[in-house]
Amino acid sequence: MRDTWLTLNPHALTQNLAVLRAHHPQSKLLAMVKADAYGHGVAQVAPLLATQVDAFGVAFLEEALALRAQGINTPIAVLEGVFTAAELAAARTAQLSLAVHSPEQVALLQAAPAGEPLTVWLKLNTGMNRLGFRPADALKVWHQLHRLPLVNSIHVMTHFARADELTCPQTELQWGRFCAVRDAIALAQREPVITSVANSAAILAWPQTQTEWMRPGIALYGSSPFADQCAEHFGLQAVMTLHSRIIAVHELSAGDEVGYGATWVADAATRIAVVAIGYGDGYPRHARNGTPVLVNGHRCALVGRVSMDMITVDLGAVAAKPSDEVVLWGEGLPADEVAQAAGTISYELFCRLTPRVRRVPPSLSSPSHV
Ligand SMILES: *Cc1c(COP(=O)(O)O)cnc(C)c1O
Repeated sequence: MRDTWLTLNPHALTQNLAVLRAHHPQSKLLAMVKADAYGHGVAQVAPLLATQVDAFGVAFLEEALALRAQGINTPIAVLEGVFTAAELAAARTAQLSLAVHSPEQVALLQAAPAGEPLTVWLKLNTGMNRLGFRPADALKVWHQLHRLPLVNSIHVMTHFARADELTCPQTELQWGRFCAVRDAIALAQREPVITSVANSAAILAWPQTQTEWMRPGIALYGSSPFADQCAEHFGLQAVMTLHSRIIAVHELSAGDEVGYGATWVADAATRIAVVAIGYGDGYPRHARNGTPVLVNGHRCALVGRVSMDMITVDLGAVAAKPSDEVVLWGEGLPADEVAQAAGTISYELFCRLTPRVRRVPPSLSSPSHV
């Protein structure tokens, strides 16, 4: 049987939560579990997190309803909000809180029947120009929402575009714009505003952006949001480890070419291992020659082009035979390193794993950590 699988380390999740909470000790934690918990498998991750976090964050309604369907009763925020009256009704029934980022969403709330009230997250566009109201319109929208019996609480949020760039002034600029709106709303409602701004990068690098709620994603899963600072530096541990096995080993002579397009040629005699994972599993096709791969715990180099079902690895002096274990990323090999060698970010590596990768339940996947 083909043996390509993914394991999750629940203790790493707990450790990463502790790291994040230590950075923003006064904040509640809204754990981002959009995109199937960043590809980790929300069915496994959500139960592990449910008792340790204050809320979950997802991108859209179906992701929230899937959490409810698996019995998760933790508060859930839907960060793109809803787009139809039917979606709004479903969100109210499921007791979700909703981002409100557009005039269309305000109109949906205004047209909704009385009944189950809800919390909304008024989303401000402070400079990213993706979702949200401009600061100049925020107070007007707040008044529109405040008038609605349907809305029992208005929280305010924004999202940073460049918090991973430690010397870039944009985060300070966005933060300043956000605080001005927050203060105006606080004045209007005559009480402090509940807010959320910080993603992983802001939590780790911009302490001044601590507010009532932090919204970490990638750091929770043990990767670094920064290009030039590794996860280990922050005490973050990989939650996911991606494994496969060697299915063949070849002796090559100097001058022998490897794989489609012969993008690698042996400059000396060596041994090549063929590993049962490829871009059909979500391993990045653009991983360069030299991308690290762990074979029996030793670092080796990917050589030749990534195929759909297989990759080729230069064993050099490492002893290995068919059926030996290979780690593509995770424990012992940071996904961030592989991502960098493939010209992408760990977020994308995780999210692109396909159903061909077997998911081992956490209870079975990490006996060494229990
Ligand atoms: C995905 C997302 C986050 C989490 O970002 P990370 O970089 O993974 O920490 C936070 N807020 C919003 C609005 C998001 O879309």
